[in-house]
Amino acid sequence: MIHSHARATFSPEGPFQLTNIERRELQPHDVLIAIQYAGICHSDIHTARGEWGPVKYPLVPGHEIAGVVSRVGTAVTKYAVGDRVGVGCMVDSCRECDSCRKGEEQYCLHGNTGTYAATDRYGQYTQGGYSTHIVVTEDFVVRIPDELPLDAAAPLLCAGITTYSPLRHWNVTPGQKVAVVGLGGLGHMGVKIAHAMGAEVTVLSQSLKKKEDGLRLGADHYYATSDPETFQKLAGSFDLILNTVSASIDMNAYLSLLALDGTLVNVGAPAEPLPIQVFSLIPQRRSFAGSMIGGIRETQEMLDFCAEHGITPEIEVIEAKQIDEAWERVLASDVRYRFVIDISTMNKE
Ligand code: NAP
Ligand code: ZN
Ligand code: ZN
Repeated sequence: MIHSHARATFSPEGPFQLTNIERRELQPHDVLIAIQYAGICHSDIHTARGEWGPVKYPLVPGHEIAGVVSRVGTAVTKYAVGDRVGVGCMVDSCRECDSCRKGEEQYCLHGNTGTYAATDRYGQYTQGGYSTHIVVTEDFVVRIPDELPLDAAAPLLCAGITTYSPLRHWNVTPGQKVAVVGLGGLGHMGVKIAHAMGAEVTVLSQSLKKKEDGLRLGADHYYATSDPETFQKLAGSFDLILNTVSASIDMNAYLSLLALDGTLVNVGAPAEPLPIQVFSLIPQRRSFAGSMIGGIRETQEMLDFCAEHGITPEIEVIEAKQIDEAWERVLASDVRYRFVIDISTMNKE
């Protein structure tokens, strides 16, 4: 077994505590990664608090992992010691089903293996990136281009791919009108990536507090959803709306903002239902869709795209002892725009 230090929560309420976890000995295709940075995703909070279903404790969240390969298994061909690498939301899948064969491992018909809170093929409960080391099969590791610093690369492994994948899948092209709902970790990446794809980007945020930021990040327009006039003014405007909100909001109001044949893609994942009236969809042949992270090949493509276009998230680097405080700030929508844990501070009290 390989020892790793980690920050774990021992109950839905927390707090985080320093602990030791065991990683499996390297199998032939495994790489051992010395983690340097781990992003904090709102999904960490939903999961650890049991909002998506029961989980086991202690739980080490973290699926935005950036680090350096420190050892490789005997059959590894893709990576060598010293390589800068990342791991996102999954660490394995069946690799045989139709989805896996298409490179859409996130939609594995047998369920992908989550980076944390899942049981892997060895029967071990997976533990995530709020830790010093992780062992992952080389097929679920991606390469971080030299142009991207490791701290800012970390959030791309979830926030980056979760917004890149639907923007690609729904073929965003220059001049298209794209709205991003919620300017948090995912939302701010959605703005940057949609802008780089040439879209005319609108942010729909609860208030105008972050307007200057939004415009600086690449948005062309910025509206407050607390103002009912926003919905009148923008009715029928957008080709694509990307909803990144972590809470249940009135989907019918947002669907009314779609143009003919427009699609609202939901990536936000509140536990509560999002009720939809059929008459929000029928009149303009609108679609309501969902999307989950992205496959491994596409995650690599996204990292290369970000390197090529000079796209990195806006981050606030914190020490490991500040995780509880950072989570509270995420819950209060007070994050600009992603917290990233400096793993070198793991043992610091
Ligand atoms: P985040 O940083 O907390 O951002 C969420 C944003 O939603 C906030 O910044 C806020 O934006 C808005 N918001 C929050 N509460 C709201 C409310 N009650 N009403 C209206 N707007 C509200 O979270 P994140 O890490 O970006 O994650 C966002 C959601 O995506 C989470 O539910 C997460 O679990 C989910 N997620 C899904 C996938 C996937 O594969 N589909 C992957 C990763 C994350 P404003 O302040 O601008 O209004
Ligand atoms: Zn995430
Ligand atoms: Zn599969």
